[in-house]
Amino acid sequence: MPADDEVSPPDESGEEVDPPDQTDVADDPLDVDLDVEFDVTEDIGTIAATVPAVKSHTYGTSVKGQSLVYYQITPPNPNGKKAFLTFALHGFEDAWKQDGRALYSIAKSTIDYYGNHLDLLKGWTVYIIPTANPDGMRYGTNNWRESAGAYGRCQSQGKDMNRNVGSDTSKEQRLLVDLFEQVKPTIAIDFHGWYNTYYGDAKIGGFFQRSFNASYTGKPTKYCYTASNGVMNCGSTLGGIFHGTTSMTVGMFAQWARARGVPAALIEYPAPDFNNNGLYDTVWDAELGYRRMGKVTLDKMWNRTRVALTDLFAHY
Ligand SMILES: [Zn+2]
Repeated sequence: MPADDEVSPPDESGEEVDPPDQTDVADDPLDVDLDVEFDVTEDIGTIAATVPAVKSHTYGTSVKGQSLVYYQITPPNPNGKKAFLTFALHGFEDAWKQDGRALYSIAKSTIDYYGNHLDLLKGWTVYIIPTANPDGMRYGTNNWRESAGAYGRCQSQGKDMNRNVGSDTSKEQRLLVDLFEQVKPTIAIDFHGWYNTYYGDAKIGGFFQRSFNASYTGKPTKYCYTASNGVMNCGSTLGGIFHGTTSMTVGMFAQWARARGVPAALIEYPAPDFNNNGLYDTVWDAELGYRRMGKVTLDKMWNRTRVALTDLFAHY
């Protein structure tokens, strides 16, 4: 049976009836602005408030004054393994304006789903940073590479959080590194788009490669690759199947983690094929002024993520 047709197991009701500890719980009121803009229909703070196993915390404040928030999901019987999942270090990737919001949305689904399916964690404790660069994602204007005026992909001062990691080139980067050091994770996964590949640890990346390349309901005939200039390539070399390579540029967050002895991978989601096969939906967003990924596609991205992570928690 295709994985997307799996019946969800019952939730963990009965595990815990106490209300969540409100100590150090962050609220993230700026999530409200996402609700009408990009498929984010459930407030992320609500998840943490209603699911006892999920706790939200702030780990600092962005340059523009937004809370930097992480979510911790703790299973009933932790086995000591910790996964550190980061999303939207780039507020803009290269497909459309503020497309880091797609990554943010997948992070929210991850928090909601595993918070309600603790059995699937198989003892792993999971730390999720749904947007490591909230200023770029919410207020940024461009996908420029690190330079004066870059703000969107980069944080508000034009620094790329996924370059020169460990050099404290921005406040947001330093705080993320500090959180990583505090958590001391077993593995780390950093999510990006839309280069249709993993980079880094082959064992971690393999879970995603198998998930994306498996047969599943509604799978597009091929994936695509979106270059930094926005040009989409659906050819077999860069599009086609989901690729993988163990080499990484020094200074990227996942490579920095690997250099510190923590197995890590950067996952580049495939790009939706906007033009050729019709299987991926897109929506004209008048407010953004761009055609962006629609809910069906976003759900597919999340479902492939769910299959990969569930497999990883069970078998890593
Ligand atoms: Zn990126």
